[in-house]
Amino acid sequence: MELNKLKDIIRSSGAVGAGGAGFPTYAKLDPRATTIILNCAECEPLLKLHRQVMEHYAREILTALQFVADAVKAEEVIIAIKPSYKSAVEAINAEIGEFPGFRIGFLPEVYPAGDEVVATYEVTGKVVPAGKLPIDVGVTVFNVETMLNVYNAVTSGMPVVDKYITVTGAVKNPVTLKVPVGIAFSELIRLAGGAAIENTENYVLISGGPMTGALASPADVVTKTTNAVLVLPEEHYVVLKKKCNPSVEMKRAMASCCQCRMCTDLCPRFLLGHPIEPNAFMRSASSGVTSDVTPYLNTYFCCSCGLCEMYSCFQSLSPRSLMDKCKAELRKNCVPAPKVETAPVNPQRSGRYVPTSRLLSRLKLSEYNNPAPLSDTLVGANRVKLMLRQHVGVPALPVVAEGQAVARGQMVARVDDTKLGCPVHSPIDGTVKRITEQYILIEK
Ligand code: SF4
Ligand code: SF4
Repeated sequence: MELNKLKDIIRSSGAVGAGGAGFPTYAKLDPRATTIILNCAECEPLLKLHRQVMEHYAREILTALQFVADAVKAEEVIIAIKPSYKSAVEAINAEIGEFPGFRIGFLPEVYPAGDEVVATYEVTGKVVPAGKLPIDVGVTVFNVETMLNVYNAVTSGMPVVDKYITVTGAVKNPVTLKVPVGIAFSELIRLAGGAAIENTENYVLISGGPMTGALASPADVVTKTTNAVLVLPEEHYVVLKKKCNPSVEMKRAMASCCQCRMCTDLCPRFLLGHPIEPNAFMRSASSGVTSDVTPYLNTYFCCSCGLCEMYSCFQSLSPRSLMDKCKAELRKNCVPAPKVETAPVNPQRSGRYVPTSRLLSRLKLSEYNNPAPLSDTLVGANRVKLMLRQHVGVPALPVVAEGQAVARGQMVARVDDTKLGCPVHSPIDGTVKRITEQYILIEK
């Protein structure tokens, strides 16, 4: 299919990266790409979504990759996956023979193998320079569920209205569900059997994985980028880390950062030659040094994987959170990222891998590392709250009115063609009950 036609179909379907920041998929279709990578790393502990979707829909996902590879005229497609996802690997091997130019690229069982800069290096040997994107070295990386959405859009015109979600942690029946976008987290907890905590009032929700996810509430709703909901006791290590207060953390850094450098020595971006050194930032920020602003500006090269604060620092300090705050301030004040050189890959890199099993243990999550089997029956919902800003790009603007009847798959909000963004579609047949600047509420 011709590139612009495929882009139009994908844009109209509302497909975005089904996890992370959710970059609109049509905007990633770039003829500079010579290599397409399917990212099936799923390196966040406890999540069991991508490997199962891959296992169930290998043929559809490889077919979608073929659509994309043909449209951009890519030379190769690499399925980046860990050897331990045996069922998914078997499913891929059963189909891949029919897709010339496709191969499996095995990733190490480490965190964060799914960081697209890390995954690109692991399966192609190419280093994405600091401050650049994979496309700058001829690579485009796609998410597993995104490719399933592309397949549905191209073959049946189906827009993105449903989402796969792993509901796990301290729940009675960890599960991976197919749910309508806009369903409330409280409903997901109920479908997973409820919280498995003595005092069931005392649990905390995290939207996403334990490393990069954010604290959430039962009233929060699924968006096109939500890939997991974790339930944890409120006194759990991961919860306490996520509740850290930056001003308290700065005082703790002033009192206890011993400049051991573990945060830097294990940083996955530093090890690939990017100029990010969390220990240097902690030294300057905690002592108020401003004569050299390099450690502050270089926070732009941190990908917020969280390894430094969730794993590396034995003082349990919070470099990632403090650097996130610094980055936000720099952006607010329109300070541009510096132009930098990328150093050679650290020769000790592979010796400094953080195995997923060790990370699980350090996060005190081993007891929650249970299967979360995929149920492919779409969960019903009587009400959905569709957020108008769900991902990178401008928010969508409603094209329906309160009281209007809508059908499943009907567009309810759109984005001007000249802007980066995607339309929103109704996941249920129902009536528009309320429209605000943030969301559209639809009830059956
Ligand atoms: S690992 Fe912790 S104590 Fe060591 S330099 Fe980094 S922030 Fe400081
Ligand atoms: S969060 Fe920490 S470990 Fe991860 S890239 Fe940033 S500085 Fe490095």
